[in-house]
Amino acid sequence: MGGSGSVAQNSADPQCFQFIQNRLCNCSSHRGCPLPTGALLPKRIIDLGSDNESLSLYETSQDIGLYAALSYCWGKSSTFLKTTQSSLKIFKNHIPWEKLPRTLQDAIVITRKIGLKFIWIDCLCIIQDSRSDWEIEATKMGQYYRNAFITIGASSSPDSQSGIFTNRPKISQPKELRFSTSDGVLYSIVAQRRGAALWPSPIWQLGPLSERAWTFQEHALSARMIHFTDAEIIWECRSEMLSEDGHPIRDNSHGLIKGLQQELEQDPENGWRLFVRSYSERSLTFLDDKLPAISGIAAHFQQQTGFHYVAGLWKETLMFDLVWVSWGWEELDKPPGTVEAPSWSWASIHGGVAFDVEMITKGIPIETHCTIEDVQCNVSGENPFGLVKNGRIEVTGPLLEVELEFNGDLNDFGIPSFTLTREDIRAPLFFPDTSLERIEIEDGNGLKYWTVQRTSKLPVPFQAKVWCLWCLTAGEEPSEMQTLLEKDVVKLHGIVLAKSTLFLDTYHRIGAVAAKTTSLLNVAGIMKISIT
Ligand SMILES: [Zn+2]
Repeated sequence: MGGSGSVAQNSADPQCFQFIQNRLCNCSSHRGCPLPTGALLPKRIIDLGSDNESLSLYETSQDIGLYAALSYCWGKSSTFLKTTQSSLKIFKNHIPWEKLPRTLQDAIVITRKIGLKFIWIDCLCIIQDSRSDWEIEATKMGQYYRNAFITIGASSSPDSQSGIFTNRPKISQPKELRFSTSDGVLYSIVAQRRGAALWPSPIWQLGPLSERAWTFQEHALSARMIHFTDAEIIWECRSEMLSEDGHPIRDNSHGLIKGLQQELEQDPENGWRLFVRSYSERSLTFLDDKLPAISGIAAHFQQQTGFHYVAGLWKETLMFDLVWVSWGWEELDKPPGTVEAPSWSWASIHGGVAFDVEMITKGIPIETHCTIEDVQCNVSGENPFGLVKNGRIEVTGPLLEVELEFNGDLNDFGIPSFTLTREDIRAPLFFPDTSLERIEIEDGNGLKYWTVQRTSKLPVPFQAKVWCLWCLTAGEEPSEMQTLLEKDVVKLHGIVLAKSTLFLDTYHRIGAVAAKTTSLLNVAGIMKISIT
């Protein structure tokens, strides 16, 4: 309970639109928010016309204007009205209102109430049965959300048919409480129970919308967003986040999105790693769309930096980007490697990844140890930031043979403990990408050898030869005293490789590795290798 303004009983009540208008009015004076001056319209946009009978699809050519964008869930049904190669011509004349699914109708109502003439909705503005149109438009989607005057988030609508406007649950309705003091003075306060999921949960946990990989980018790039949650409307712009009852929302995710937007503008390299970290954390359940769903942000990043994109990483900062560390894999029961991304890409695994961002931002001296000789990355369609068919890195660097062991031990959480050992040295820290298993491979000459591959299963105990490729050193060599105290000042970072199961003289990644001193670097031999 808390002191409260009032919340309308239904999200279509005039009070809700007044709330949105008030926020818009306030936002126009925010120094941190983009001015509503209009932007390049998307290739196709829905022209709302004067009434529901005059909706049409407008193909633009360098037009400037203000428009809304819709962030929503399609749901399981795919039978609702969409633009196809055959319906394109018809829709350019007229889109039948009565055939539009409810979520789209509601979004159009909201757009009209805001006073805008255009709305961008993917299923109508992208030709759904044209693979090439879809792939080309997918790269521009980030820009479309970024340029939109406002994004409407159908946060609690599980599909396109369920609509945006809902009756608020009774429990979230404000109640008047009366009481009297001991000297007989009567008081009344209006109190409201905060939506159970409202605070302090991150905004993206507020409904089914949050379960779609694509909405991360839609949210992250939008200048302003109105989230239609079950309990109330939440306003979010780059300067404030406010619930309908007037409460500012101090929500981590707001800080995150704002932070990401600033990072992407001011320090794009780090912005990218922060983004990948948050994105991978959120999209634990996605694999196939993992790269396409952030292709808009990747395209935006490339424009800003001129860097070359390789399967979710950047060629120019590859030595840093390669040393991602996987976490959360142990909770997942999915076959690894079902996505066609090279093993060195974080997109090749389920679960979250992290980068040692602090190490890179805090001005610690960094020394890289590898030379990238060549990077090849082939995408499987027309979206240069989309699905990857294959990728190969050729690198010359310090390679150290070590023993990978699984002796059957599980940690406190029931997760297999893998260790790296070598007789003459202290074991480095190992961060496996997934669970690992040993498999037998036969080379072209009938010779058999053992290697290690990613798996989702609990393996039988094994020992196998693997290799550490040392990528970089961060920090100064510690003093004798610091070494004695085991001060964590030097870190040698690398990746762990196993012999490829498919190609001779080629390796694939199975994990990341770190060590506290550079002694492990001195015992490694410089080799030129290929990683797929
Ligand atoms: Zn604002």
